[in-house]
Amino acid sequence: MTTRRQFLASVPAAAAAFALSDQFILDAAPARAQQIDPLQGHFHPKGKAPSKFTLEVLKRAKATLPFADERDFEEKQKGFIAPMKDLQIMADAGHVAWDMKRFQFLDAQDEFDSIHPSLHRISRLNNNYGLYEVIPGIYQVRGVDLSDISFVRGKTGWIVFDPLVSAEVVRAAWKLFQEHVGEGLPVSAVIHSHTHGDHWGGVRGLVDEADVRSGKIPIIAPVDFMDFTVSENVYAGNAMNRRLFYQYGLLLPAAPHGYVGQGLGQAVSAGATGLIAPTRYVEKDIEEFEVDGVRMVFQNTPNTEAPREMNTYIPDMKALWMAENVTATLHNIYTLRGAQIRDPLGWSKYIGEALYRFGLDAEVMFASHHWPRWGNERVQEVLRGQRDLYAHMNNQVLHLANQGVTINEIHNVYEVPKGLQAKWFCRGYHGSPQHNARGVIQRYLGFWDCNPTTLIPLSPSDSAPLYVEMMGGAEKIMVRGRELHDAGKYLLASEIVDKLVQAEPNNQEAKDLLADIFEQIGYQQENPGLRNSFLAAAYELRSGIPQGETASSSSPDIIKAMSTELFLNFLGIRMDSRKAEDMRFTINLITPDNGEKFLVELENATLTNIKGFLADKPDLTLTINRADLEQTMTGAKTLEAQIAEGTAKVEGDAGILKQLASTMVEFDPRFEIMPGTKAMHPQVTGYVESGPPETADPYQAVPRQTIAE
Ligand SMILES: [Zn+2]
Repeated sequence: MTTRRQFLASVPAAAAAFALSDQFILDAAPARAQQIDPLQGHFHPKGKAPSKFTLEVLKRAKATLPFADERDFEEKQKGFIAPMKDLQIMADAGHVAWDMKRFQFLDAQDEFDSIHPSLHRISRLNNNYGLYEVIPGIYQVRGVDLSDISFVRGKTGWIVFDPLVSAEVVRAAWKLFQEHVGEGLPVSAVIHSHTHGDHWGGVRGLVDEADVRSGKIPIIAPVDFMDFTVSENVYAGNAMNRRLFYQYGLLLPAAPHGYVGQGLGQAVSAGATGLIAPTRYVEKDIEEFEVDGVRMVFQNTPNTEAPREMNTYIPDMKALWMAENVTATLHNIYTLRGAQIRDPLGWSKYIGEALYRFGLDAEVMFASHHWPRWGNERVQEVLRGQRDLYAHMNNQVLHLANQGVTINEIHNVYEVPKGLQAKWFCRGYHGSPQHNARGVIQRYLGFWDCNPTTLIPLSPSDSAPLYVEMMGGAEKIMVRGRELHDAGKYLLASEIVDKLVQAEPNNQEAKDLLADIFEQIGYQQENPGLRNSFLAAAYELRSGIPQGETASSSSPDIIKAMSTELFLNFLGIRMDSRKAEDMRFTINLITPDNGEKFLVELENATLTNIKGFLADKPDLTLTINRADLEQTMTGAKTLEAQIAEGTAKVEGDAGILKQLASTMVEFDPRFEIMPGTKAMHPQVTGYVESGPPETADPYQAVPRQTIAE
């Protein structure tokens, strides 16, 4: 049986197989007279063709977009050296880590009636798959992951910028690079531009940790890198992983009616992820030093695209590396998988600073996604456009908010200025103007639109039955919902049919109609995250959430990157406090090998900890080296076993650990989002019913997948 670990580890690659395998496909329900016919060739038996309204939306988009500007296609092709020949890259664990076969259909036709022309365009651009020269001495392998890997010639070897998500694709990229331009020279340094997993996860594919520890290969990163690599994904990690199924469409097969890429790249690789702690941190705002004989100027840009990120200028090559701060898209201010809202004004200012520090001289600009820009004029055009894109979003959204436009209206009011709309690199392939505009209001004003009705509202499932009753019952809603659907008024249709689905989660006819509505809205989106979210919800409404074993795939490296304080904080989140109402105790936790101590207290059904303090009269003192504690955090050895063998020492009431363990809950990454999608009958859905998730050790850290962005 697949373990929890294996399931999620293979998810991106397995998603297509999942959705396509017979086992998961519905028996076609008896056709209902009023329903539209399913579409032959659609991956789902209930899938529908785009409606005439959807076709019209896509046609209008095509007419208004700047298709005459083909510079992106020239730039993505420029410097091409060699293709990556194998369309699939295997993971060491035996599954497919990367699969470009899935995306070949994008080049088979000039247009698809179910894909927004702008989204189709970026997905074709992301079908670049091979080795490219940026300028002599700088090379990139693109298209083997969500991100690009870059190689800069140093005095003794190659300086690697941002080694992708997993080791297997990094190795394949390095092999291709060495076959053509690497001259057999070794890796001489690694630079992690920022804390997201697609910029460090594959490091072990290139570098032996011993060489890092010995000082032979420095790893350079922005200050506080380790504190933020993992922490962004831990506290709400399970919810984020579930939401990835929507934003990244993990269950959708790559197909004209399904998944068509992720904007930043085609997908996320599914190999082995690792992390080696950096040995040199860039601490000042601007810092200049040599890396393997190459002069580099680093610009820290905290709280932009990532909590910690840095740009790099290589003055002797006039080459500007903009990390992920400037790519060929409007990036996320709000991230659909869930993240704290980013600061668009600060982001804009850092781009402005890069423009005036480096951009007036730079002759080439490259980044960790997409393709480079050549010539100072083009470099400046892109920097200026991106600077203004984020500043405008901040300023104009607040301008409107200051006149009363709320978080529930702003996406219908805010518009990117016409001049920027006409620049391809300002299109919303990751962030969308709509969800980013809402994010800006959330950042400054929060979720409330100031109408008391929405201040402490009923839960949707509690208010929906009254709506259904007042609207005259399910049948009337279905008739009206169908009319609105047939008139192309999909958002209105979704409002009322969603109420019915909320009130009657077992009403499959209603769920199917809502799925049809969502599907059309999905086809109409330029932004892949929006498209995927609507299509993913349609998928689950039709088929239910796949049951079966699930897994987290975090490597021991990721757990090691978790500070003990972060781990203790997370235990407080894993604890079901309702089980701890009558508990009260104090624990001193001492980890001698790193000299840390913590006072851990359970009181008022709340688990707290404070670093650097110990209680005078603790109920229990637990002494364990951090290195041994990691064994427990990774699930390799239980705390009980460590106590039994004497690696961990306890003084006082050891029963407290059992008590605390009894309150720990493991989060299930298959929780229901759309009503009635979890309990769908196995005979109808074909999904294998399973019991509760395999239980992790109570003191295991259980972080979820590394989140790439
Ligand atoms: Zn990235």
